[in-house]
Formats: sequence, C-alpha cells, structure tokens
Amino acid sequence: VGADVRVFLTDFRYLTQAADEVQGFDRVQGDRDLLADIAGCLPGGELRLGFDDLHTPVRQHARLRDELPDRVELVPAGGIAEQLREVKDARELEAIRTAARIADEALAATLERGIVGRTERAVAIDLEHEMLVRGAQAPSFPSIVASGEHGALPHAHPREVPVPAGALVTIDWGAQSAGYCSDCTRTVATGELNGNATEVYEVVRRAQELALAEVAPGRRGAEVDGVARGVIEEAGYGEHFGHGLGHGVGLEVHEAPRLAKRDGGAVLASGNVVTVEPGVYLPGSLGVRIEDLVVVTEGGHEVLTSRPKELVVVG
Ligand code: ZN
Ligand code: ZN
Repeated sequence: VGADVRVFLTDFRYLTQAADEVQGFDRVQGDRDLLADIAGCLPGGELRLGFDDLHTPVRQHARLRDELPDRVELVPAGGIAEQLREVKDARELEAIRTAARIADEALAATLERGIVGRTERAVAIDLEHEMLVRGAQAPSFPSIVASGEHGALPHAHPREVPVPAGALVTIDWGAQSAGYCSDCTRTVATGELNGNATEVYEVVRRAQELALAEVAPGRRGAEVDGVARGVIEEAGYGEHFGHGLGHGVGLEVHEAPRLAKRDGGAVLASGNVVTVEPGVYLPGSLGVRIEDLVVVTEGGHEVLTSRPKELVVVG
C-alpha cells in the first residue's frame, strides 16, 4: 500500500497464527470476503495498488476492481514475493537441508525392504510413510514411482502394478520440513537390464554430473541447461529430453530461478537452491531421470542430496 501503511488483512481462522508469524504489520481482521475489506484498509488520495497477477484469478481481479474506488489504480506486480525468495538465508537453508536428509533416509529404508513385486503405489506409500516417521511435515509433492515403460512419463502417477525385475524404476520424491521442500530423483535397476537401458542411464548420469559441476554464482540458467542438453544431444537422445534442466526449490517445490533453455534471464546467485535433473524418456520403453538438490555458494555449490548416482540394483 505504501511505506507508511503496513496492513495484514486476514479472517478469523488465521488470527492466532498471524499473531505468531506476521511481524511489522498492523493485523486487521476482516470478513471471510477479504476482497471487499481491502478498500477500508487503504489511505486516502490517489493510489497505485500492486496485485499478484501470477496468482490472482481473472474473476477476483474483476471483483477487486469493482470494490475499489476509482482513485486506486491496480498495477500488476506478480513475482515480487517469488523474487524475494530466490536467495535463501541460513535458517531457510537449514530447513531445506533437513528436508533433503529426511527424504534420503526414507528412500534408503524403503529400498532396503526391496521393491520387486510390490506395486508402484505401495512403494510410494511406504516412502511417504518413512518420511513422515522421520519428522517430515508432509511429502513436498505426490511421490513418483515409475517402472519400465511407465518411466517414460516424466510426471507418472504410481500405478497398482507390481514393479518387475530387470527394469529401470524412476523414483522422484521430497520431504517438507519447517515449511520448506526438498526434491530428488533417482533411477534404480531391479536386476540385469536389456537393450540400451544401461547406456541411457550412463548418458543421463554424465549429463547430470557435468551440468552439476557448472552450478556457481554468475552462471546463466540456460548455460547450465545447455551443458546437460549437449551431452544428451551428442548421444543421440536430444529429442527425448523435453523439459528444463532444473528449478528453484523453497517454500514451493517449483519456484525461481529456472535452469532451462528459456530461463527468463535467470543468473545464479549465492543462496539459490536449485535442482539439476536431466532425463531421457523413450516412449513405450523406459525413462531415466537423475536429480540433485544443490545450494549455490560463494565458491560454487554444495549438493544437499546424498544418494549414490552410480546405477544401484535393488531386489
Ligand atoms: Zn523431483
Ligand atoms: Zn524437480
């Protein structure tokens, strides 16, 4: 609203929580219909009022316009909060570090029991249970467990289908701790592999490791993406790596900055937390993705995920 007016408007349900968590603002209780209450919180005179055009539905924007007097100009200001979140402070890094550790330990416990013959869904539930037992608030997104040809879907939903022997299985999972997310992917083998599965795995692994080595302050998101993409293209699988290399992680599992061909001008800075996750997806056959979570540091980067990247065989 202005440097001299700081109002946090909420309704009855969040009063106690706001008293705990919102400092430096006047906390005002409104009705359930907060849009109608905004006008009453504004100072007089001509005003420019920023709104988050990234997350405001068209209908809400129209209502807001209706509720506000003409002297108030609505100005799109989306992404401001997201921008503020790009560089994490020590407390935030600690939460993400904890989430990543919980997730790694949960996967170890799940794989130890074996996955062949259990359904993808049973493995996913087991993994999420192990994260909760270890103190996660929640999984940071619905876990992916995708075996064989199902692994060719980058965002596969776990099926009621037993994990077969002799296949690649992609597991993408994360924990939430103190409000912050982790995100990691490993692709494991369930026994001896046929065809080009091992070759594809090694291409993705090389792409992942070379791109990861490039993560440092001042590097462009597109530049780091290009390193992984180059390795995969050179191996002849370029058309099968159809998504960006990585994304920022924090309060949300997908946030700025982006590591992709079109990175929106992202330049990495110390304190960013990003994923590095190339993949190759061969429809009807198999998929491989390897994803680490890394924090950009003054001297380069530190990897927060610790599971091995050489091809692990699980029974
Ligand atoms: Zn992931
Ligand atoms: Zn990710």
